Amino acid sequence: MEQLQVIRTNQPKHKPNEDELGFGKYFSDHMFVAEYSSEKGWHDSRIIPYGPISLDPSAMVLHYGQEVFEGMKAYRGAEGDIILFRPDMNIRRMNRSCDRLGIPQVEPEWLLQAISKLVEIDHDWIPQRVENSLYIRPFIIATEPCLGVRASQEYKLIIITSPVGAYYSSGLAPVSIYVEDQYVRAVRGGTGEAKTSINYASSIKAQEEAKRQGYSQVLWLDGVEQRYIEEVGSMNVFFKVAGEVITPELNGSILPGVTRDSVIMMLKHWGIPVTERKISVEELFEAHQQGKLEEAFGTGTAAVISPIGAMKWEEQSIEINGGNTGEISGRLYDTITGIQQGKLADPLNWRHL
Ligand code: PMP
Repeated sequence: MEQLQVIRTNQPKHKPNEDELGFGKYFSDHMFVAEYSSEKGWHDSRIIPYGPISLDPSAMVLHYGQEVFEGMKAYRGAEGDIILFRPDMNIRRMNRSCDRLGIPQVEPEWLLQAISKLVEIDHDWIPQRVENSLYIRPFIIATEPCLGVRASQEYKLIIITSPVGAYYSSGLAPVSIYVEDQYVRAVRGGTGEAKTSINYASSIKAQEEAKRQGYSQVLWLDGVEQRYIEEVGSMNVFFKVAGEVITPELNGSILPGVTRDSVIMMLKHWGIPVTERKISVEELFEAHQQGKLEEAFGTGTAAVISPIGAMKWEEQSIEINGGNTGEISGRLYDTITGIQQGKLADPLNWRHL
């Protein structure tokens, strides 16, 4: 493996106030960059001062969207140690996304070292408050200057980091959800299970319309029959129906979330039944009519657990658990964030130090 070159900034930036972090608005002092060419493979890895990059206007990513990305967090432990949460899962998913998008994969150990080194260099940017964290965004773009529709021969891998605030500043707050019955996020055989910009570009219109109507996210249905539940906004989704926790099974169009996997593992660890299967929106609303829909929540790196308090589908509006955070949602949130922040024991070995 080639030596990683490090060029430190001589103009460190002013750090933002931890009250005003929000999500993805501020960026740390350094970034990791590596290049790919068919002749050399991945090469020229370096950590350099954060700043603009230069791209040829014909760079393929700008025209056909050949791109993949990841999202994960670093936390500051009680002893000032740096904690990464299951980074191997993100790296594996990044390589699966690369495969789907025709992008050359990366050596997992090399990428993990790049992430660790970057976070170590910018460790001052990991917020002090336990509920805040440093969001890590690795991404790969097709940089070959060419307008032909084919796989690029050249790529750039970049990792940037951003101090972010707690998603919920004053305790878990349930959100209301609009069941999207016009637009779809992904189709059978499409790119839904890959983390690629194109999935997000195509989801924006529906999100904006739902927001205009007063809902914070959309519930995505499958792209074939528009009947089966897939995801909520950019999170996976879980329901508790008559004591059983259910989440849509991975079917190629759902993004396999790291938090989703962690929730399933933790529920099993607790001995709570959890089933991965198809669940239709009719079944869900019927369960509600029968008084069996006990909880609903989204899962993802940004919020960890996002309780769903209300849902609208066609003309029906329902309230779930009286619009309050359910017991399992709250317990999962406290446990997973406690493990991430180094406050609780780590029975499933998720912390990477
Ligand atoms: N689905 C989509 C579409 C997402 O963008 C995300 C966020 N990465 C998730 C689910 C949740 O994945 P994770 O738990 O790995 O953040």
